Amino acid sequence: MLTSRKLDDLATPAKIRALKFLAELRLAGIDFIVTCTRRDADAQNALYAKGRTREHLDAAGLTHVQPAPGPIVTNAKGGDSYHQYDCAFDGVPLRHGKPVWGTAGDGIDDDPADDATDDLELWQRVGAIAEACGLEWAGRWKGRLREMAHFQYTGGLTLANFRAGQRLQNGAVA
Ligand SMILES: [Zn+2]
Repeated sequence: MLTSRKLDDLATPAKIRALKFLAELRLAGIDFIVTCTRRDADAQNALYAKGRTREHLDAAGLTHVQPAPGPIVTNAKGGDSYHQYDCAFDGVPLRHGKPVWGTAGDGIDDDPADDATDDLELWQRVGAIAEACGLEWAGRWKGRLREMAHFQYTGGLTLANFRAGQRLQNGAVA
């Protein structure tokens, strides 16, 4: 099982955008930490198991994965996450040194304490900076897929493309 928070574990086109994003955040005076870059299939399945029961996991075809306590934090199983293909990272802004998760209303890791308006405003600023740097921000996604802390650059490739063995090319910086 492998989980990394090193930017070097991102494919180059994603890493370049992540570095620009972090530099722009610094310029904007926003403290931010990257919590995860690459996550392999086993690590993704372990994350998927959080907050799910034996029955859920069996129904998802994950008979070999053990349920884990806590809130549900992802809807992606192993193979379904861009983290596995080196083009996604998670991170969170800090206020007074404390992470501001800001996951209001998406049903994932919901904590009413995160729903303050100024927290959501902070996330909107972070998301806008990410998008200006060429990243997709999952805080913009609709419904159950929305994940404030998830950013990615896929170069137009889909999960099906990645599963079929395609990868971001190091030279392919648009
Ligand atoms: Zn993520």
